[in-house]
Amino acid sequence: INTIGVLTSGGDAPGMNAAIRAVVRTALANGKKVKGIRRGYSGLLEEDIFDMDAYSVADIIGRGGTILYTARCAEFRTEEGQKKGAEICEKHGIDGLVVIGGDGSFQGARKLANLGINTIGLPGTIDLDIACTEYTIGFDTAVNTAMEAIDKIRDTSTSHERCSVIEVMGRNAGYIALWCGIANGAEQILITERYDFDEQAIINNIIEKRNKGKKHYIIVNAEGIGRSEELAKKVEAATGMEARATIIGHIQRGGSPTCKDRVYASMMGARAVDLLCQGASNRVVGYKEGSFVDFDIQEALSMTKDIDQYMYDMSRKLSR
Ligand code: ATP
Repeated sequence: INTIGVLTSGGDAPGMNAAIRAVVRTALANGKKVKGIRRGYSGLLEEDIFDMDAYSVADIIGRGGTILYTARCAEFRTEEGQKKGAEICEKHGIDGLVVIGGDGSFQGARKLANLGINTIGLPGTIDLDIACTEYTIGFDTAVNTAMEAIDKIRDTSTSHERCSVIEVMGRNAGYIALWCGIANGAEQILITERYDFDEQAIINNIIEKRNKGKKHYIIVNAEGIGRSEELAKKVEAATGMEARATIIGHIQRGGSPTCKDRVYASMMGARAVDLLCQGASNRVVGYKEGSFVDFDIQEALSMTKDIDQYMYDMSRKLSR
């Protein structure tokens, strides 16, 4: 490997910059050249490629977002697009590529690997919804941001003796909702993986808790379930308790990454470069049972995971 390219793709996540910085500096330490590719596969196809040095990644470890920008690219889903991408890598001398993104981005990385470009994927998503890993870049920051927001809503909810339906991100996965629900002591946690849509049961529970003297009722609702406004209105109509919906939204994607996201993203970025230098390709870096590991991309994409049942059951017991 002579030249390592790096790009971020799909949804952004805090900590991506720390990963980029680690890729660049580990590559330079190994005597490799580094090229940054802007806007994911879109930028690759548009040849938005530039040389990076140690200084290009100065002052970014504490910044959210991604200095390389990110995008989705329909053209790259086609065979012609992928061929063009591989040819552009060759033209720019990029013989190793680090792709930071989610499952979709790894599909693209696999296609490039099949076309002879050595590629390594790093899991970057706030949603934690990548099966081969127990950690994804950005999740820790996102849950801490959401947790702090929910703490604030809880204060005012208690003062006004309200019910608050708080919607957190996670279209396909309830990890953010489950973690925040536990961390914020929510009375209800609604996640697509487990929710049976029994609104009457929630209403009954609110009435029961209020009769026991509870001053507020917090429902943490995952984006995948949505319709938080609707649920708040139903609760208010059925219980007489004032109910408000808050969608926390995009603040969960931004902000300065936590220590964990900075350190783990750095470890993963460094490992991606080490793998490339060892001649590996078509791998995804993950974190399992306390160690950083890597998997064949195809194998990683075929894995499935579900939320921890013990954790979910515990959350139900603690909210009683
Ligand atoms: P997140 O879900 O966190 O936003 P992601 O990486 O899964 O991240 P996607 O939009 O699914 O996000 O994928 C990002 C990009 O990867 C796509 O816009 C496309 O360019 C490329 N990609 C996705 N699927 C494929 C595929 N099957 N083959 C080739 N490229 C793909």
